Amino acid sequence: MPEEKVEKEVCPKCGSALSDVTTTANGRKLQRCTAGSWNPTTRKTEGCDYVKWLPFEPQTLDEKCPKCGSPLVMAMTRFGKKMKKCTTGGWDAATKTATGCDFVEWINGTTEELDEDCPQCGKKLVLYTTASGKRMKKCSTSGWDRENKHATGCDYVQWLRPGEYEKTGEEFLPPEEKEE
Ligand SMILES: [Zn+2]
Ligand SMILES: [Zn+2]
Ligand SMILES: [Zn+2]
Repeated sequence: MPEEKVEKEVCPKCGSALSDVTTTANGRKLQRCTAGSWNPTTRKTEGCDYVKWLPFEPQTLDEKCPKCGSPLVMAMTRFGKKMKKCTTGGWDAATKTATGCDFVEWINGTTEELDEDCPQCGKKLVLYTTASGKRMKKCSTSGWDRENKHATGCDYVQWLRPGEYEKTGEEFLPPEEKEE
């Protein structure tokens, strides 16, 4: 990994210097205005709320594209969703068309079993982590009936930061996998 070169930049909102690059829990990089500070307890920015997101650098994976055999990279959308995509895939900004191989595999959330009982039905809870790194506890009996489009089993859900909306200077990220 090359050294991170941080240029001395100033906040376009208030003219203060920008902080060093920090990395979020799910691997995104950003610089904040030094006139503001992020309070992890309240999850709010205090002072100037300017945030500059740095482009996510795709990581090359030790995996080959199932379509064409080229290496895959881990990439991320600006909304923090991760995907594996083919290194030969690209985007032609002039013609607005995808170029090269179009293989993409979205990374879904992960589920871990917890040693905790569901307060609603007494079955075990699981810890569900969405692709963008949000976490909730839900009942292991819960499921989704794709055919009839309704939730099945127990509907107990507890977001680990209840009602969480990750609001930063520029983006508003709703929780994924929201139960309806
Ligand atoms: Zn500022
Ligand atoms: Zn490919
Ligand atoms: Zn339950």
